[in-house]
Amino acid sequence: TVAVVLFTSDLRLHDHPPLRAALDTAAEVVPLFVRDPAVHAAGFDVPNRAAFLADCLADLDASLRRRGGRLVVRAGPVAREVRAVTAACGATEVHMAAGVTGYAHRREERLREELDACGVALRVHDGVVTAVAPGAVTPLGSDHFAVFTPYLRRWSKEPLRDPLPAPRAVRVPDAVRGERLPSRAGVADVSPDLPAGGESAGRDRFARWVDAGLSRYEERHDDLAGDATSRLSPYLHFGALSPVEVVRRARERGGAGVDAFVRQLCWREFHHQVLAARPEASVQDYRTRGDRWRGEDEAAEDIAAWREGRTGYPVVDAGMRQLRHEGWMHNRARLLVASFLTKTLYVDWRIGARHFLRFLVDGDLVNNQLNWQWVAGTGTDTRPHRVLNPVLQGKRHDPDGTYVRRWVPELADVGGAAVHEPWRLPRDERARLRYPAPLLDLGEGLARFRQARGRD
Ligand code: FAD
Repeated sequence: TVAVVLFTSDLRLHDHPPLRAALDTAAEVVPLFVRDPAVHAAGFDVPNRAAFLADCLADLDASLRRRGGRLVVRAGPVAREVRAVTAACGATEVHMAAGVTGYAHRREERLREELDACGVALRVHDGVVTAVAPGAVTPLGSDHFAVFTPYLRRWSKEPLRDPLPAPRAVRVPDAVRGERLPSRAGVADVSPDLPAGGESAGRDRFARWVDAGLSRYEERHDDLAGDATSRLSPYLHFGALSPVEVVRRARERGGAGVDAFVRQLCWREFHHQVLAARPEASVQDYRTRGDRWRGEDEAAEDIAAWREGRTGYPVVDAGMRQLRHEGWMHNRARLLVASFLTKTLYVDWRIGARHFLRFLVDGDLVNNQLNWQWVAGTGTDTRPHRVLNPVLQGKRHDPDGTYVRRWVPELADVGGAAVHEPWRLPRDERARLRYPAPLLDLGEGLARFRQARGRD
């Protein structure tokens, strides 16, 4: 018998339940990835993620070839392509991971219709994209947790399987043809410091992280210049690492840092279960606060200054420039720049979320949209009216200004924490810097936000 494994957000061989199930029942397996034109039409295959994806596919193909197989890549509507592949090799089963977004649900529906029509079984597996399936734990009377801490408590008690080893051998039927793998070199406009994608790179990074980074995570995760977080997010986004394996191995390692790190991983799971229950929250307010946000027309100059990292608030500008340069931004900086856009500039969170999705290598509808909503106060934050002050936050999380100087070369000669308030420098020194004056007074921004939210 032959089975097809449709890879989506799970580009790995280790701990892959759909692949394991297929190999358990079929003599031959087709590992398939379909480049869906709908993803392109939605503007989702931006250069940074397209390049990282190309790395992931190349690595997956290389790992399969070492085991006697290969990756089949096709382009076209997913249901049509999967059906064509099953017809070409006489497959009787298709295995894939359960998805969370509206797109993933529609894809699964169409696939089921198409495969039902030709008598092929579709088997959808949980525990692949997240460690705990969305909806597996729910509070009394609701289909999802709307508050993080009670979710964390319940989620932490869920048993997780032992991570599955990568298969030793994969036999792929000759009859199935694919197209050439996309290559990173073929993608233009990639951020200069984009990391290498793929399961092998992800596993190396994770191994180094468990050895050398994890134990100091709790004390250092908010240190902007220290850059002491795991940077595993793109690998988790593409499924090059298994969330079950990451949680299990971190817990097995034990000691300092583990609880804080696993707590962050749980945020990812929390957002997945919110979006699974409320797919419309990727575009609509999860909780309406009556905001009349400023949009592109009303706030064009403010938005452009924010996007380009020239707001005159150094830590905000540093974060926005890191985003373009690396396709990634430190979580503390994401919080700061998002609070600045939505609360200080009072601009619609969707505008910020769209800009992030254009550059973030880990950008996804689940974590991006729901973190933006959290910061904007339309999401699950239990303190939706708090506003982060970029000067105080800069001084606290970048106390000697190293992060700012790294990303804002105009301020490279300003020593120490003074870099967070260039407007306080002596007039002649200030005049020599080619750095803009603050876009607005923080007090004015705060007053506008409080008035808009009815909280004077
Ligand atoms: P670590 O600190 O090492 O954390 C480990 C893992 O936990 C991360 O890799 C990530 O998978 C998960 N994680 C950590 N914090 C969060 C969080 N707040 N929400 C969800 N998962 C989390 N993360 C994305 O993966 N994709 C996004 O598109 C995204 N957009 C964001 C937008 C905004 C406005 C904000 C405030 C946060 C966003 N995040 C997003 C969450 C977080 O900033 C990143 O996951 C984190 O910075 C990645 O770096 P790391 O891997 O070093 O994280």
